[in-house]
Amino acid sequence: MNSAPDPGSQSERRQRSRFLRLVKHRSTILGAVGSIDDGPRRGLPALLRLCHRSHNPRMTHIDRRDRSEDQGDEQMHADLSTPRRRGHRIRILAVVAAGLALLAACGQGGGGGDASAYPEDSITITVPFSAGGPTDTVTRLVAKPMSKDLGQEIVVKNVEGAGGTLGAGDVANAEPDGYNLLMHHIGMSTAPALYPDLAYDPLKDFKTIGLVTTVPMTIVSNKDFEPNNLEELITYVKANADKVTLANAGVGAASHLCGLLIEQAVGADLNEVPYDGTGPALTDLVGGQVDFMCDQTTNTVPQIEGDKVKAFAVTTPERIDALPDLQTTEEAGQPDIKVGVWHGLYAPAETPDEVVKAVTDALAKALKDPEVVKKFADLGTKPVPEDQVTPEAHTKLLMEQIDLWTPVIEEAGVKGS
Ligand code: ASP
Repeated sequence: MNSAPDPGSQSERRQRSRFLRLVKHRSTILGAVGSIDDGPRRGLPALLRLCHRSHNPRMTHIDRRDRSEDQGDEQMHADLSTPRRRGHRIRILAVVAAGLALLAACGQGGGGGDASAYPEDSITITVPFSAGGPTDTVTRLVAKPMSKDLGQEIVVKNVEGAGGTLGAGDVANAEPDGYNLLMHHIGMSTAPALYPDLAYDPLKDFKTIGLVTTVPMTIVSNKDFEPNNLEELITYVKANADKVTLANAGVGAASHLCGLLIEQAVGADLNEVPYDGTGPALTDLVGGQVDFMCDQTTNTVPQIEGDKVKAFAVTTPERIDALPDLQTTEEAGQPDIKVGVWHGLYAPAETPDEVVKAVTDALAKALKDPEVVKKFADLGTKPVPEDQVTPEAHTKLLMEQIDLWTPVIEEAGVKGS
């Protein structure tokens, strides 16, 4: 049974505002059509309800409430088949045409409403990992100036679990109206190979908006972990493979991929401890509940600088400015442990291009914001060059990364569930 939407919820507010936009649109059409009599007047609201309902499954309770009006619509069809009043029929046809135009507008881009007026309501960016983690940090940093530019609040929503695939699945199925966006990272390209039952196709179920940043990873451990450099860590982990614990953010997370590279270097499977994001994993690492992990510098720089964790190496070819004393994995004799965690912003596939363009523009501006540039630098990263903040560059990278990771994952035989 369908329950009525919570009147105070964000989705209900969105439904309301969307309905208002449709009503505004309807008024324009009615104005163009001219006067109508009582019969067809009942027909247009029915089309409107159909339009509204087709995009709002939770609103199907209207079906029962408005049945009497729908019966009025049946009467309208009966009138059409009776050659009684020619003028009446013409007016009816005019209204039906207007209704069809409205339905077409409603279906346009799958989102409905007036795309050129976007945004008229708050926007939600789903982060598919826990609050306080690296993906969350990147999202909140860019959301602030984007919100200012777009003139609407941006709500960051954490939908964590299954290596980021739950949150991504939610957005794939969300209203394609520009009010539901997804910030995801490299995991978008690894999920298809890792999850046989993946509920979405990264290339078909989303529109890319633009790339954001590529963040280096660091290998870190709790302060009591015995080894003191990467060479010692590999040796120690090899000798104690049955008891050391390696934290990650689930199968397909960047921390998981980096962990696989470490396992390859060690030549053994390790005890992995999955979290819903590396925010909570790092808290446990500092607390000594897990031994070591890989994580983006956006999470680890403050902990490394604060001497809360031991840092072994950074996973980029070059050292990074934020941690100039930390050697690279290559310098430490492990050139194969290299990962850069790229992030991109997505919308559901049917989102109108006009709306995507507005978000791309806001993202590009946000990435030039001096505060964002400084915060990124402090956390070991920088915005992507401007020509990468486009749907085209984003799609190109996504496709390349799917091609890159799929055979690697298939060969490793790793699967998520
Ligand atoms: N750093 C995480 C990862 O391993 C994700 C997160 O919590 O942002 O993919």
